[in-house]
Amino acid sequence: MNSYHDTFKTYLVKIEGRYTDQKRAIVDEIFKTTKHFEVEAFLDRVRLRKGREFSRATVYRTIKQLFEAGLIQRITTPEGRVFYEHNFGKKQHDHIICNVCGKIFPIEEDIIHKQIEAYCKQIGFSPEYRSLHVYGKCKKCQEK
Ligand SMILES: [Zn+2]
Ligand SMILES: [Zn+2]
Repeated sequence: MNSYHDTFKTYLVKIEGRYTDQKRAIVDEIFKTTKHFEVEAFLDRVRLRKGREFSRATVYRTIKQLFEAGLIQRITTPEGRVFYEHNFGKKQHDHIICNVCGKIFPIEEDIIHKQIEAYCKQIGFSPEYRSLHVYGKCKKCQEK
């Protein structure tokens, strides 16, 4: 199953972007990553894993385009750290983020999802992207 490539390719055709080998390798690596990741850490990992140089600009551009294509989501912490993760073949989930240590806890409650869906339906709204974040202090940070 490679359909994230297809979805991305369709998007690139629309914006007249090229799907280069390097982009493809970056995309493969992103969809292998199940956790939330920061671009710089991802860059180090992809260079190490593939044993070749990846241009920082290409990595940033690819991630931006994947985000615009709706294939990955973005989570911003209050101190300005930006995490990404892919949505493909995964359940939509929300996030609880610690303002102190930056730890991210996923919320995979179906009940939230169903209620949002039901409400969208009720008001005749067609949802495309959802981003729900709860910010605060995790248990460990409260004990400090
Ligand atoms: Zn914390
Ligand atoms: Zn997540």
